[in-house]
Amino acid sequence: MCCASSLIGYGASGLLIERLMISSDSFPIQVCAHCGLIGYDNWCHFCKKLEKMPVLRVPYGCKLLFQELQAMNILPRLRLANYGDAPDAEPARHKAR
Ligand SMILES: [Zn+2]
Repeated sequence: MCCASSLIGYGASGLLIERLMISSDSFPIQVCAHCGLIGYDNWCHFCKKLEKMPVLRVPYGCKLLFQELQAMNILPRLRLANYGDAPDAEPARHKAR
């Protein structure tokens, strides 16, 4: 992790994704397509709905950050593009806005 800022400086985004997420602590999360919050087992606690949700792979630290922000009543919402195109088990190819 010591050379991460130099890699960012050179714009090696593919290498950064591989080093900082895929080979380290990638974690699958389900995102509600309506509200954009993290759901569990296709259940959105905010919408109170049981519905099929897309799966994103994010760094585990990102998931922890979202949960800590929610604990402070700050709702980090993920707006997904091309939600209907992606199968569930596929690694994240969604574009978060
Ligand atoms: Zn929801």
